[in-house]
Amino acid sequence: MDLIVARNRDDLVKARAGGEVALVPTMGALHEGHRSLIRLARARADQVVVSIFVNPLQFGPTEDFSRYPRTFDADLEMCRSEGVGVVFHPSAEDMYHPDRQVSLLSGRMGEIVEGASRPGHFDGVLTVVLKLFNLVQPHVAIFGQKDAQQLALIRRMVADLDVPVEIIGAPTVREPDGLALSSRNRYLSAADRQVALALSRALREGAAEPAPSRIRAAAQQVLDAAGPELDVDYLVLVDPATFTEVEESHTGEAVLAVAARVGGTRLIDNVTLTLNPT
Ligand code: AMP
Repeated sequence: MDLIVARNRDDLVKARAGGEVALVPTMGALHEGHRSLIRLARARADQVVVSIFVNPLQFGPTEDFSRYPRTFDADLEMCRSEGVGVVFHPSAEDMYHPDRQVSLLSGRMGEIVEGASRPGHFDGVLTVVLKLFNLVQPHVAIFGQKDAQQLALIRRMVADLDVPVEIIGAPTVREPDGLALSSRNRYLSAADRQVALALSRALREGAAEPAPSRIRAAAQQVLDAAGPELDVDYLVLVDPATFTEVEESHTGEAVLAVAARVGGTRLIDNVTLTLNPT
């Protein structure tokens, strides 16, 4: 079946096929991480819709919206080779009416950790994701664990607003040396890239420890050793569902998450751990 490119909501309605639909929301500049999400979507549904939309609402005024990488032709090629049925690629004008007033508030979880560094970011994410759900009406939607707080907030939105969609979280795809794939990695110089490896190394070293204080300390030590080129924004060990810091006595899953700037590029990464009773 040929790939359909839907550039507005009318195109999208025309492209709708029968059967189960899986949505993979992206901002384009697709890489192997996105490819793994598309493959999961294909395994779960009859038709896969990939949205490619760099959402202005989720970028702060000093962030990289205008220089965010846009590689639409290559993105289409990947979608075609993975059997995607529809690529939804609307313009900002098509998505956002000039008179629009109503949007979503992500609440307390949207204001902590990543949300503390990026005020309004998760409000913008949830608003666009709910619009995409309403436009595409998917049965399932796939999101990467790479953006763990985003995934937690989308699960929260679906539960709080009774959105009729199943959310699937997909594991983070990494380079052989551990660096988590990201569309922003293309901004990194060779030297930046070496510095950036401290993020995944810190998560690995932290994950090898048994208890919260030791996990945090081991990860922090790796970040400190990376030197001044690594400008750490946060290192947290949080509950995966609420993103609040876990207590020393916490058992079960926890997310060790880190954000840092390398050169001019802000990178995030995380790993999910299971803490056993001692
Ligand atoms: P983005 O285009 O960066 O907004 O990401 C679109 C989707 O791909 C989100 O659900 C991300 O969590 C997911 N994603 C980004 N990087 C990776 C990765 N390295 N592995 C798996 N999924 C990813």
